[in-house]
Amino acid sequence: MNQPSRRPRSAAAKLPHGAALLHDPLLNKGTAFTEAERASLGLRGLLPPHVHTLEEQVARVMDNYRNKQTDLERYIHLVSLQDRNETLFYKVVGEHIEEMMPIIYTPTVGQACQQWGHLFRRPRGLYVSWKDRGSVAGLLRNWPGQDVRVIVVTDGERILGLGDQGVGGMGIPVGKLSLYTACAGIDPSRTLPVMLDVGTENEGYLGDPLYMGLRQRRIRGPEYDALVAEFITAVGEVFPSALIQFEDFANLNAFRLLAQWRDKVCTFNDDMQGTAAVTLAGIYSALRLTGKKLRDQTILFLGAGEAGVGIGDLIVSAMVDEGATVEEARRRCWFVDSHGLVVKSREGLAEHKLRFAHDAPPAPDLLTAVETLEPTAIIGVSTIARAFSRPVIEAMSRLNARPIIFALSNPTSKAECTAEEAYGWSNGKAIFASGSPFPPCVVKGTTFVSGQGNNVYIFPGVGLGVVASQARHVTDQMFAAAARTLASLVLPADLEMGRIYPSLTRIREVSAQIAVAVAEVAFKAGLARVARPADVLKLVESAMWTPRYREYV
Ligand code: NAD
Repeated sequence: MNQPSRRPRSAAAKLPHGAALLHDPLLNKGTAFTEAERASLGLRGLLPPHVHTLEEQVARVMDNYRNKQTDLERYIHLVSLQDRNETLFYKVVGEHIEEMMPIIYTPTVGQACQQWGHLFRRPRGLYVSWKDRGSVAGLLRNWPGQDVRVIVVTDGERILGLGDQGVGGMGIPVGKLSLYTACAGIDPSRTLPVMLDVGTENEGYLGDPLYMGLRQRRIRGPEYDALVAEFITAVGEVFPSALIQFEDFANLNAFRLLAQWRDKVCTFNDDMQGTAAVTLAGIYSALRLTGKKLRDQTILFLGAGEAGVGIGDLIVSAMVDEGATVEEARRRCWFVDSHGLVVKSREGLAEHKLRFAHDAPPAPDLLTAVETLEPTAIIGVSTIARAFSRPVIEAMSRLNARPIIFALSNPTSKAECTAEEAYGWSNGKAIFASGSPFPPCVVKGTTFVSGQGNNVYIFPGVGLGVVASQARHVTDQMFAAAARTLASLVLPADLEMGRIYPSLTRIREVSAQIAVAVAEVAFKAGLARVARPADVLKLVESAMWTPRYREYV
């Protein structure tokens, strides 16, 4: 087992010695152990004689990384490094964040989830299965970390756009927590990835001899809810300061679990709330270009799932902050799903769509809805590639001087339109963002660098703010504050080239500022479990872990 020891790092006497130290990824320095450390920690002879610096080790990792032929090989290379030496891993990732984000997270992590049982090398994180019901607290106590502050948990049912990945979904909590550390400096020894294995409906895995999860159909209903409840209660007992982030649960569970737990424990769902905040930030940035107010926008969504309804809910709460009533705000958000415009007269609408079902005649498709409602923004969260057709974008450009067009579906192959289509068909008028990155494109001699509405701009900073203030709950106000802060950090130079999000190279600074805004909400709302210091930024920065070697001797 490669679970790190989480022992104090200062006193050499308390450290594991010899090979045990080299096999502890949180403490291991590899060839960077100094002569003195090698002598007093039982390492002499266990390492080649030359002592390398962290920078030299980074160069070696990058040499190997560049020689890999495929993204999946690059993923395996990085995850293996993480299992050996976390300091070096985070140093490498932090210095190459734009390049490595698509490797350690979407889209490559999706491939890794699909091949989990075949790629498996070492376990990472905690696997809580249906068989463990009744003893979940005991499992949590087996985890070597003493002071867990951020947990990401999935049941693997709706992994990215790839559906049910069963126990292979563990790649997602592992990857997300890597981003918490790389982007916001959450101490890796205080993170815990969790897989709730309740079975899978994926026939391929059920018949695969190398599949590593329970070989049974998913447990559903009250028994499923009871396992989730046992897990959440056990976290409260064993890690009372931990934030629990729900990730990639199927619609039917995600909405219900969030509603059930958000006011009881410290939790949020990134697929809904993180997505909502990053999208709202994009709209705020776009409004810096149009000079208009949020409450005057009419927003039409294609797709009424977790992302769409999550974004709609946060936009409503932000419009209310600008003085609109909830009813007025909801009337400014419209949804088209696979059956056309979501309107009151439609029968059998899912619970989460009802609040956005307006009194209006039905519209069979997106183009009709655009022509009828005259939206200022269209937001694609439908997983339907090319649904923003040329007529749709031309209509938006006829109706608006600067149409806001966000094609957020992932991966790139599912985007509702490409950057080139958005800028080209709108004659360069579109304010565009996408879920997956697009390369810069040239339209009529102008170069456009579009923004990626990546949740990574939001969740690490929110988590850091919650950790620093020890907030009891995560509220919509925190996500709204995160969105406003993110938009405020977009530079005029970014906006000039069409980019409505800051460069990812600034992500630690962005996360720290978001954390300050989130902590301020916690202090104001009386949700913080620490007193508000005079300098909140200092509090946040002091909670940020930096990848550098500690001296053991
Ligand atoms: P989901 O499965 O919960 O929802 C998808 C919705 O699309 C459903 O309401 C479905 O009815 C609707 N839909 C399906 N076919 C349609 C059609 N032909 N026309 C109109 N609507 C149709 O998924 P989700 O979590 O809401 O995610 C949706 C997409 O958004 C995914 O591709 C996901 O990758 C992307 N996403 C992007 C970001 C981001 O950019 N930051 C964040 C979250 C999700």
